[in-house]
Amino acid sequence: MSSKKVVVAGGGAAGMLAAGRAAQKGASVTLLEKMERPGKKVLISGNTRCNLTNTLSLDGFISMYGVNGKFLYPAFQRFFREELLELLSRYGVSTFVEPGGRVFPASGKADDVVRVLQQYLQENGAKLVTGTRVDQIETIKGCISAVKTAGNVYPADAVVLATGGSSYPQTGSTGDGCRMAAALGHTIVKLRPALVPLVVKEREQAGALQGISLQDIRLTSFACSAQEIDISSIPQHDCGRGIGGRRPKPPLIESRKGGLIFTQYGVSGPAVLLMSLAVADALDTGPASLSIDLLPAKGQKQLAEGLQSAFDRHGARFVQTILEELVPGRIAATVLGNAGVHPEIKAGRVSARQRESLSLSLKDLRFDIERTRPIAEAMVTAGGVSLAEVDPRTLQSKLVNGLYFCGEMLDIDADTGGFNLQAAFSTGWLAGESAAMLR
Ligand SMILES: Cc1cc2nc3c(=O)[nH]c(=O)nc-3n(C[C@H](O)[C@H](O)[C@H](O)COP(=O)(O)OP(=O)(O)OC[C@H]3O[C@@H](n4cnc5c(N)ncnc54)[C@H](O)[C@@H]3O)c2cc1C
Repeated sequence: MSSKKVVVAGGGAAGMLAAGRAAQKGASVTLLEKMERPGKKVLISGNTRCNLTNTLSLDGFISMYGVNGKFLYPAFQRFFREELLELLSRYGVSTFVEPGGRVFPASGKADDVVRVLQQYLQENGAKLVTGTRVDQIETIKGCISAVKTAGNVYPADAVVLATGGSSYPQTGSTGDGCRMAAALGHTIVKLRPALVPLVVKEREQAGALQGISLQDIRLTSFACSAQEIDISSIPQHDCGRGIGGRRPKPPLIESRKGGLIFTQYGVSGPAVLLMSLAVADALDTGPASLSIDLLPAKGQKQLAEGLQSAFDRHGARFVQTILEELVPGRIAATVLGNAGVHPEIKAGRVSARQRESLSLSLKDLRFDIERTRPIAEAMVTAGGVSLAEVDPRTLQSKLVNGLYFCGEMLDIDADTGGFNLQAAFSTGWLAGESAAMLR
């Protein structure tokens, strides 16, 4: 059993597990949380239902974190989905699985997960101090010596930094940990928004479609301007991060089938969020654009034939009325505008060239991306403490003896589906255990 003094900075998913586990290993643990209560981000996660993990296989899981995923193997070997579910069940919380393998508490309440984490802390004797911001970490000869807050100094043998990223600052995550790690010599990989809505240059056009939600479109992003998109390079299958084996060829960035919603300034929704980080990275070096296939179930030839047959059958109707049977009214108007076809032309009078343009417009609605929405609106922060300076087997800093990292402040992020929380829980567990066992 440990006799170490461990201070954990940050009471989110990662910090609470770290503190509980270090205490379980016998360390004397103080968890310092700057907000008035811990776990604020867990409480709003999954629309307050908390998608806490996923049923994907270990290798599938790892692929969800992109190139940095392999760093997580040792943490997942120590504490993965089964251990997490076992911990929850020990405190009376059962779970259920939704399509896509997403795991939620059966009650549908994120609150239950926070309650378990607090009970786990309490039961193992970790001391939780809320309303207390960690300002600085003190070292002596490259070893941890203490943690400073505004009014106190906490002597420590080990410190676990678990202060999260810098998105949703109202939950307490404001990038403090990265600043403290940098002050101790750590490299911080640029913090970027991930899982964030996109702002398009054609603001008026997107604004006119605001509020329209499309369930089953194919969204493809490109590292070039909308004008330069080559429609023949739009794949009919998903490709991108976490989608095994299908690496997109530049300028293609990602392609996914899924939901999209038009906003006042651009686009959001599941398919958009999933590719937003890759788009943000592309924007760092040049233009980026989107193509929306509004009817991905039909090939372009099939669609053109379908339009022809509808136009033949209903020759006296306005062409817009017929398109409105395929897509929402305001989208139909946009498609007609892009195809250069007057909405009140009678279907029977649509020329072969116009029909071709309409089917093309339905398969390829384009937007130039101006930027992402700010990091404060991102569900996850990409970037953080460089993994090259952290030992994946213990999560200890390679620069400062006794300093450990876990959760979103590490340079790790993933798609939606429960992967971010599982990474926070697993790294929290490993960091806490390692800190308690520090020699
Ligand atoms: C709206 C939303 C929904 C989400 N839904 C899901 C989901 O369903 N599934 C999923 O897997 N992921 C989801 N995520 C992401 C997931 O919630 C995070 O990746 C995860 O909570 C990160 O945990 P963490 O402990 O590393 O950091 P955080 O949860 O950010 O916790 C950090 C803690 O440190 C505290 N802190 C910060 N600085 C200091 C300081 N100087 N001193 C003391 N304390 C400090 C903060 O107050 C905070 O409590 C969602 C995120 C958002 C924003």
